Amino acid sequence: MEQKTVLYIEDNYHNRRIVRKILQTRGYTLIEAQDGIVGLAMVRKLKPPLVLLDIGLPGMDGIEVVGHIKADTELRDIPVIALTASAMRGDRERFLDAGCDDYLSKPVQAMELINMVAAHYPASNDKSTF
Ligand code: CA
Repeated sequence: MEQKTVLYIEDNYHNRRIVRKILQTRGYTLIEAQDGIVGLAMVRKLKPPLVLLDIGLPGMDGIEVVGHIKADTELRDIPVIALTASAMRGDRERFLDAGCDDYLSKPVQAMELINMVAAHYPASNDKSTF
């Protein structure tokens, strides 16, 4: 089976656990970082195919993390999906303006997450998704 990897930068253990369980059912391996600084370092080192990014993070927030990713020519093609409980009007635009490729609000719905990851995951031959 093809190895599919997603990096999730999130400080909340509970959220990481939920997302890990959901994505495992579709054959993804979740790599996890607990803060923005470590997360950005992992993006640089591992160049994961896709990044899920919490916005409210200790140290360096998600807006700053995606700014660094999208400013780096070697990393800018990595799709970044913001995952946040924030539901304020204008937030979606703010995240997209910051460089996020898409936005998902928490609490995460399983099918919504699966479909969004599949839609942004770099071209694979996985036909089991649908
Ligand atoms: Ca958080």
